[in-house]
Amino acid sequence: VDPPPTVLHAFRAAAARTPDHPALAYFDGRIPYREADALSDSVAGHLAARGVGRGDRVAVMLQNSPHFVLALLGAWKAGATVVPLNPMYKAGEVGHALRDSGATALVCSDRAWDGYLRDTVAEAGVRIALTAFERGLQTRDDPRVLGFERVPADRLHGADDLLAVARAGHPAPEGREPGTDDIALISYTSGTSGTPKGALNLHRGIVHNAERQRTGHPVPEGAVYFALAPLFHITGLVCELGACFANGGTLALAYRFDAGVVLDAFLEHRPAYTVGPSTAYMALAAHPGATPDHFSSFLVLSSGGAPVPPALVEKFRAGFGPYLRNGYGLTECTAPCASVPPQSEAPVDPASGTLSVGVPGPDTVVRILDESGAEVPFGEQGEIAVRGPQVVPGYWRLPEATAAAFPDGELRTGDIGFMDADGWLYVVDRKKDMINASGFKVWPREVEDVLYTHPAVREAAVVGVPDAYRGETVKAYVSLRPGADADPAELSAYCEQRLAAYKYPREVEILAELPKTTSGKILRRDLRSPK
Ligand code: ATP
Repeated sequence: VDPPPTVLHAFRAAAARTPDHPALAYFDGRIPYREADALSDSVAGHLAARGVGRGDRVAVMLQNSPHFVLALLGAWKAGATVVPLNPMYKAGEVGHALRDSGATALVCSDRAWDGYLRDTVAEAGVRIALTAFERGLQTRDDPRVLGFERVPADRLHGADDLLAVARAGHPAPEGREPGTDDIALISYTSGTSGTPKGALNLHRGIVHNAERQRTGHPVPEGAVYFALAPLFHITGLVCELGACFANGGTLALAYRFDAGVVLDAFLEHRPAYTVGPSTAYMALAAHPGATPDHFSSFLVLSSGGAPVPPALVEKFRAGFGPYLRNGYGLTECTAPCASVPPQSEAPVDPASGTLSVGVPGPDTVVRILDESGAEVPFGEQGEIAVRGPQVVPGYWRLPEATAAAFPDGELRTGDIGFMDADGWLYVVDRKKDMINASGFKVWPREVEDVLYTHPAVREAAVVGVPDAYRGETVKAYVSLRPGADADPAELSAYCEQRLAAYKYPREVEILAELPKTTSGKILRRDLRSPK
């Protein structure tokens, strides 16, 4: 069977096959495929009637709620490109993305609209606003259906209520179906390295990777997929929403990550599949209420989008049972380009202690290049370059940045890695995060992986700090597991016993929490230059 041309086609096919099967589950509410299809048709009809045309940009700034999905499908059905925005963005960041993408419409929460977005939107020239009464974070002690309410009239301020629009019964416009080569998303990179750039994710790349998750990490048709990663980030959108709809599954949503709420939701929905950043698994493993029962329904538990310390995989298996599968991806390759095949486990490189991220997917070619762009032999480090159907054609309106990152259509990832003789890929670290200590290269990851083997450590981030004698020296920031105890000198000595003298952190600072992006990545940049 040929794969569908877009995830929207896959969704519609599932709606035709199993109209009564729940497409979405949100706390104790369920929306069957038939209804999700009709509600998103109506959103599309409204957008089209307000003048949204093929290729116009519709920004969606929502948490993991049914509203996000209705807005996404509605915009796609109207032929538009979606610009997913992080709901944690402040006015300046939203303004940049709206102006840069030239968005004509914005869907956001009533709180953001009522609070600070109205002026930003007006200045950016956005003509159409839809707001959603989006509420979440229910626990098992507080069982209420959340969020299927209308926005109070006095908070609309000229916007239309998304739910009212969805329930108005408008038909979807005809002939707007996106094609596989159309731009599905403009995804602003999460900015762990600088100013956000809009990566052009085509429907082709999304459906390729969604299908690859479906076939490469199989679960029964119709199974429950839990959205542990945020849907506004490419990992959640492709590996969770996309894979789920490609498999006619139920997408279980829980607003935003909170370890206690997520554990409750695991018991309620009994998901078979999820993908999330390693920091989410660290938080779940450290939660005092977590038991093996919480994880017993999972057939696939994947960690993608951020480094996975080998100690976390072991902690998970010993404490909760399932094997945590690593996967490597970037916004620029529409989420994964390498993953651990079923029936196998990722090896750990004996020299560096790094866990492999898996093997390149079908039709995907990964090369390791030296500074001159020539391929290096197996085992040698260099920059990871990727070619394949999921690699984006470039950045929105940035020809120079596109030419630099995609010479000849091949993505230069900015990540340093190597490949072993069996084809397993290893990500050493980001090129720009290398620490130069007296002329010696130190990769923060290697030091972090050692810190993670210490029983008291919950999260670790290693950065270079200026040093009069060495130029740069290694400093570690850690947060501790609840109730655990360790002091900085002890953690420094622990690393000294396990690493070469130039690598171990001379300085260790303990923080209650490490700074992270809302997609869950630890922000080394903020630690290098504390604000
Ligand atoms: P920016 O591009 O603005 O710096 P970002 O890099 O965080 O933001 P993403 O596309 O979300 O944007 O992240 C991709 C990066 O995440 C990769 O380049 C790599 O450094 C890291 N990464 C993803 N998966 C893994 C993994 N399994 N192991 C190690 N690193 C990973």
